[in-house]
Amino acid sequence: MQYPEPIAKLIDSYMKLPGIGEKTAIRLAFYTISMDQDDVVEFAKALVAAKKNLHYCSICGNITENDPCTICADKSRDQTKVIVVEQSKDVMTLEKMREYHGLYHVLHGVLSPIEGKGPEDINISSLLKRLQKNTELSEVIIATNATPEGEATAMYISRLVKPADIKVTRLAHGLAVGSDIEYADEMTLYKAIEGRQEI
Ligand SMILES: [Zn+2]
Repeated sequence: MQYPEPIAKLIDSYMKLPGIGEKTAIRLAFYTISMDQDDVVEFAKALVAAKKNLHYCSICGNITENDPCTICADKSRDQTKVIVVEQSKDVMTLEKMREYHGLYHVLHGVLSPIEGKGPEDINISSLLKRLQKNTELSEVIIATNATPEGEATAMYISRLVKPADIKVTRLAHGLAVGSDIEYADEMTLYKAIEGRQEI
């Protein structure tokens, strides 16, 4: 039996989301149909509004409503340090810790030869431009995940940045190898930043 067209479309849409297989997509699609009309409209509006109203900050690459983002626009933040992360959600995780008051730079990925991702596919060139422009910046803290790709990306950035006489550090390995920032608790993150080492 074929699903009616609107349900089939909904299932296809859910399957485009990460980590959602066919079974889950079918369950979500049928659940959506069972929801109140108002709730479905709210849900659809939230999806469209999030996509329409959010952009990437032209300075740091973080997701923001306004450009530059509130972190880049806040001149009271420590302008000497920038933490380089893989994803916007890593910025949120580190900000929740409330212990770091410097700047950020979001790469939107890592170098991955297997996936054919090179330096031009992630947000690296804008980091270099930023370092040239902002003479106050004196330390780049690399907080890519402790995966082989994250480590390779850290080394790559380090080699690019060091000749500019800027200190390059890496989060301490309080984070287990292969672990993601988003799963670390606040204390572990704080210790990882405190114990960062020059590379
Ligand atoms: Zn920004």
